[in-house]
Amino acid sequence: MTTADLTRRTAAELADLLTAGEVSAREVTAAHLDRVSAVDDRIHAYLHVAGESALAAADEVDRRRAAGEPLAAAAGVPIAVKDVVVTEGLPTTAGSKMLEGWVPPYDATIVRRLKEAGLPILGKTNMDEFAMGSSTEFSAYGVSRNPWDLDRIPGGSGGGSAAAVGSFQAPWAIGTDTGGSIRQPASVTGTVGAKPTYGGVSRYGLVALASSLDQAGPCTRTVLDAALLHEVIGGHDPLDSTSIADPVPSVVEAARRGDVAGMRIGVVRELGGDGFQAGVRQRFEESVQHLVDAGAEIVEVSCPSFEYALAAYYLILPSEASSNLAKFDAMRYGMRVRPEGVEDPSAEQVMAATRDAGFGPEVKRRIILGTYALSSGYYDAYYGSAQKVRRLIADEFAAAFTQADVLVSPSAPTTAFRFGEKVDDPMAMYLNDIATIPANLAGVPAMSLPSGLAPEDGLPTGFQIIAPAMADERMYAVGAALEARLTADWGGPLLDRAPDVLSLPAPTVALPGKEA
Ligand code: GLN
Repeated sequence: MTTADLTRRTAAELADLLTAGEVSAREVTAAHLDRVSAVDDRIHAYLHVAGESALAAADEVDRRRAAGEPLAAAAGVPIAVKDVVVTEGLPTTAGSKMLEGWVPPYDATIVRRLKEAGLPILGKTNMDEFAMGSSTEFSAYGVSRNPWDLDRIPGGSGGGSAAAVGSFQAPWAIGTDTGGSIRQPASVTGTVGAKPTYGGVSRYGLVALASSLDQAGPCTRTVLDAALLHEVIGGHDPLDSTSIADPVPSVVEAARRGDVAGMRIGVVRELGGDGFQAGVRQRFEESVQHLVDAGAEIVEVSCPSFEYALAAYYLILPSEASSNLAKFDAMRYGMRVRPEGVEDPSAEQVMAATRDAGFGPEVKRRIILGTYALSSGYYDAYYGSAQKVRRLIADEFAAAFTQADVLVSPSAPTTAFRFGEKVDDPMAMYLNDIATIPANLAGVPAMSLPSGLAPEDGLPTGFQIIAPAMADERMYAVGAALEARLTADWGGPLLDRAPDVLSLPAPTVALPGKEA
């Protein structure tokens, strides 16, 4: 089997080849590392490539298989990990100068689970600084590029993970989703992204953005692969106080079944009207029709408070972020800057100089916003009101789920936009998250899968499926059924229609230098 063959395989296919002994974990890992060497100069999906340790992990899987030791189903299938997840012995920057050169002394729980399952870690992927953004333009280490068009964003904050998977530099990857950072990048790159129920996957060892919203999850090329990865990383963790004690929903079984017959699918009136690109809406409606053809019943649901979701999110998130980021004080770890021209600086002066130099503009904007929203005179007016809206949104979800088994909408209002288009306009950037944020506020699971190319620009569009808390299996069942129909229509996966990365026209904006 050639290297190209191996990198085009899904994780599920690779797992079968490995189990059958047709390929070794070393071959699969080496094929992906070769692909990274060949194309990542153009994409910049990775901040750190961990070739040596990935090959050593692969060799260990091969040794155990040869010795007849029991192995997890996906053992030997390599993976990329978003750089917001701490990895023992591997640099973790969260896309920020503040953590440049930091090598964590421990693994996040999800990383420990990847290692226990025998998944070699290929490297750490690029992201907006501290996961704030929708384009990777706020990474302190330069942008990642969309494999469909190098002048366009791969989404954010987890653009690196989606771009790695979308350009066949990893069969699958870990992302995190606080307001859409798994689903929106999936939507604009033609890949699959799933945000599990809040508490379904441990947050221990994530560099926290907003603790009540953050959730790690799979970035893949198929719904089945997302389910397989979900089961590897999911499940109770005593180290995370918000971790759910119940068993992980049977998402793999649901993805294999892929059935929607008799299900009630709720189209959310407030997510998909004005402000959504025509081609995005068209592909969404066609996908809904596929679900009807597969035997689902469509109902329209209305969630009027979703109108205020963005405003509530951009008060709650900055509030929590301003508190979480207070730990970057130049005293304990990370960057330390001595203020210039000060003879004997105080701790406060060092903190101020460090935070000024270490944080980028979007992070500063949110720290200021959050600190203000939490200040004593304004707490009730801003943070308190936002929490009330959050409650209304959760109530409206609960009501909608009495009318429908799952809810659906486009994943993002537009296809991938060009670099520079929104970076100086925070509101325009924030509006990209309009469809994804409600699920985070309510803690319910949601996924995005490709729904075709928008006719007007030939770029991927995404279809979002939202399920009730702890009913993650429903979104996988619906997603797999839709994916089967769509790929039959297209004559193969959507990514088969993506241009060859190496033959794409060079980007007009020069690639930033890669970190070693
Ligand atoms: N784009 C959103 C934001 O900037 C989502 C971030 C995320 O999910 N990490 O907050």
